[in-house]
Amino acid sequence: MKKMAVIGGLSPASSLHYYERINQLVLDRLGDNNSADMILRSVNFEEYCEMQRQGDWELSGQKLAQEALSLKSIGYEFFVLATNTMHIVADHITDALGDTPFIHIADATADEALKQKFQTVAFLGTKYSMDMDFYTGCLEERGLTTLIPKKEEDRDEINRIIFDELTKNTVNDVSREFYIQAILGLKARGAEAVILGCTEIGMLINEGNSPLPVLDTTEIHAQRAVDFALS
Ligand code: GLU
Repeated sequence: MKKMAVIGGLSPASSLHYYERINQLVLDRLGDNNSADMILRSVNFEEYCEMQRQGDWELSGQKLAQEALSLKSIGYEFFVLATNTMHIVADHITDALGDTPFIHIADATADEALKQKFQTVAFLGTKYSMDMDFYTGCLEERGLTTLIPKKEEDRDEINRIIFDELTKNTVNDVSREFYIQAILGLKARGAEAVILGCTEIGMLINEGNSPLPVLDTTEIHAQRAVDFALS
């Protein structure tokens, strides 16, 4: 099994899901008491939230690249950045990694959407992921049409629920209903599936309550990491 380094999600709520899912997938596939060979680096999320609010992507990219480098002394064979949003600075990390493989979350998500034969997909995530094109651009380059909620106030509320609730482990029904309504609106505009493009959204939305088939980036990314670890 290849050893992975995972930098936490960047909230601890997301890191926990990655840790659980990756280990469960390894157990499911290998049985006995097999578990993932991994380094999980969990950072102080608020420091990164502040850099996001300031739009200081350069500094956050440098810091994450530094983390990737400092873990090299422990040793890992591939790298996972357990958050969609911070893939804005994926280039900083891949530069630091050199030849060490990096499992890109948007690539894995695009592969899964295409495998399931979807063409038009709704995308929900932080306002950074919805409003900037680093993620949806990646999906569009792969031939997918992406839809995000039209109204800025709706995108703001989706973002607020992530940072005020989900990343702090708060899950409430009013927020779930807001997401369901947003997905219904995107379905009416032609979306065939919804990408949960933030690694905490799975705490609210799943296949059982979503009006559209779900592409949960946490699950897809965890699967891809385990596929690679066992390949
Ligand atoms: N986990 C989130 C994501 O997937 C947002 C938190 C963060 O900024 O890392 O985008």
